[in-house]
Amino acid sequence: MTESARALDGRVTVVTGATRGIGRATAEALVAAGASVIVTGRDGDQAQQVAKEIGAVAGHGLDVTDPEAVGAVFKAIASGHGRIDALVANAGVLENALIGMIKPELVARMLDTNVAGTISTVQAAARVMMRKKSGSIVLLASILGERGSAGQTAYAASKAAVAAVAKSAAKELGPRGIRVNAVAPGLIETDLIRDLTAEVIQQRVADTALRRLGRPDDVARVIRFLLSDDAAFVTGQVIGIDGGLVL
Ligand code: NAD
Repeated sequence: MTESARALDGRVTVVTGATRGIGRATAEALVAAGASVIVTGRDGDQAQQVAKEIGAVAGHGLDVTDPEAVGAVFKAIASGHGRIDALVANAGVLENALIGMIKPELVARMLDTNVAGTISTVQAAARVMMRKKSGSIVLLASILGERGSAGQTAYAASKAAVAAVAKSAAKELGPRGIRVNAVAPGLIETDLIRDLTAEVIQQRVADTALRRLGRPDDVARVIRFLLSDDAAFVTGQVIGIDGGLVL
């Protein structure tokens, strides 16, 4: 077994939105590193199915826009598994719209899932982690939150907010032994980017030093590092995983 394979031995780790894309790849990487992973997703049956496929310990239905459900699911996980050591708040949505076309409902959807959903899951996980005075949390920001993007104003705003959540939560929870970091992926090949035109994708690849799109596993491995003790003195950081798109 390699060092990275042992890095998260037995750590009870919750991943939200983990039935596909970056969430699923992350759950798989954490299982491979020895973590006891709980896969969560809006569809409980699908979460259980994915958990079975990847060797996770359980799958639960969880819509992060329902704060009461988030609290209840984290409580149930904590009592079933004795503790929660780590959280990957991955669930997120993206809808593109030019400024003139943005409807209030679109803004509400972005903020409900990407910001309020992230804060609810951090809150629920922190309540459990504080009892043991230890834990590690990784949030999913985006380079668009830093760089901005035409046609993606609401999404970019929501992801800038996620970076602010990571920094604020790191300051508040650090004294309680809980680390909070965010990753800021560039363009990663998942269902999330299916609505982007070939032209936009080509332009982003051309702007990327490594001249390729990212893969879910590129993100998963950095999250695994941030959750591990190798990152024991790292908190409040927003780590770019973008192949050199933002330089
Ligand atoms: P994806 O669409 O494949 O996965 C998103 C997951 O979140 C899905 O499983 C979806 O069902 C889930 N989800 C959405 N709303 C939810 C809710 N209310 N409750 C629970 N789960 C919910 O996309 P992805 O690319 O894997 O995205 C994962 C995260 O990475 C997102 O937060 C996204 O914003 C972020 N991100 C992605 C990229 C990229 O280029 N793909 C870049 C930067 C950041």
